[in-house]
Amino acid sequence: MISRKMTAMTRGGSAIRALFEEGARMAEKVGRENVYDFSLGNPNVPTPESVKDSIIAITEETDPLELHGYMSNAGYGFVREAIAQDLNARFGTNFSENNLIMTVGAAGAMNVALKTLLNPGDEVIVFSPYFLEYGNYISNFDGVLVDVPARPENGFQPSAGDLERAITERTKAVVIDNPNNPTGVVYTAETIRALAEVMERRSRELGTAIYLVSDEPYRELVYDGAQVPFLTKYYRNTLVAYSWSKSLSMPGERIGYLLVPDEAEEARTIYNAAVIANRILGYVNAPALQQRLIARCLREPADVAAYDKNRRALYDVLTGCGFDCVYPGGAYYMWMRTPTPDDQEFSDRAKKYNILVVPGRAFNCTGYVRVAYCVSHDVILRAAPGFKKLAAEYGLAKE
Ligand code: PLP
Repeated sequence: MISRKMTAMTRGGSAIRALFEEGARMAEKVGRENVYDFSLGNPNVPTPESVKDSIIAITEETDPLELHGYMSNAGYGFVREAIAQDLNARFGTNFSENNLIMTVGAAGAMNVALKTLLNPGDEVIVFSPYFLEYGNYISNFDGVLVDVPARPENGFQPSAGDLERAITERTKAVVIDNPNNPTGVVYTAETIRALAEVMERRSRELGTAIYLVSDEPYRELVYDGAQVPFLTKYYRNTLVAYSWSKSLSMPGERIGYLLVPDEAEEARTIYNAAVIANRILGYVNAPALQQRLIARCLREPADVAAYDKNRRALYDVLTGCGFDCVYPGGAYYMWMRTPTPDDQEFSDRAKKYNILVVPGRAFNCTGYVRVAYCVSHDVILRAAPGFKKLAAEYGLAKE
């Protein structure tokens, strides 16, 4: 008999995965080119050529025993040092290899961070709508997720006042995801300053350390020159979970890091515990070849032009149909208000036009859908008549 926790998981299923499978069934019926699948967050910009070239060079230039062997559970020192120096050059920080642990993607970094911090019953505050895996990551370590809705009237920026009301003596961490999945909103420096002020003050008053865990796989995917605040500069008890899954279009390769700054309370203890967590969660270490690859491709810029073009086109299509959307500053998601409060009904009705969008309830926020625009540009243009008919069904646009 499997565990009670896993029994619950096998019953739950993932709404996004279910849509993906539905898309495959639709494709069999109407042809792949006639399915407009905006459900998955898989990057569709090609992985840069330099990645392929570097993999070839690394495999040719490195002694195979070194190349494929175990290393320190924190990862190669030279790779961590290269990343630290890159961060220092970009953000004016002062990190070294001793602040970084190479991880199995941002998801691995989040699990390492939460395993390191949480005792059973500890509370973790998350702002909805949020990446639903956070619920699983927190429950992996018997933590309790506390949902603080971000308000539409604030453009989905988290509110410091709402955060303050949610903090208790059991609050161990606050998770933020910037730029945000699913809203595409970039949290501003002003938002971060306000959140940091509350966390600092409440930590002092309660005599506890509240850690800010910043999940940043979309950091490089920003538009119109938007700046994503680097959080260790705003709040000392910050841990950063990062990956190259999106910026270099290599989510299957599972490479990222966890950053623990020296100024965090008990930084050395946290770092040492996190290295152990990386080992005993069964990751052991981040993939060796991918670590070496990152050291070579650190300065490879993310190619955001195609996403930007899609962002503008999709926004025009959807708003042109009369839908109400948040204009995204980052990531590759459009957050669209549904003309009915029932986002599931809307998502189901969209399937009539072979359009797949994820209902907001998959992010703990009803009345919205997420439209992922990491698709070929053509899909957006060809989906436009279907969106128009869908809007007409709700009395928004004339067909
Ligand atoms: N965090 C968020 C908000 C995500 O959207 C994703 C993936 O889509 C992840 C974490 C996982 O990223 P990675 O592939 O680096 O583990």
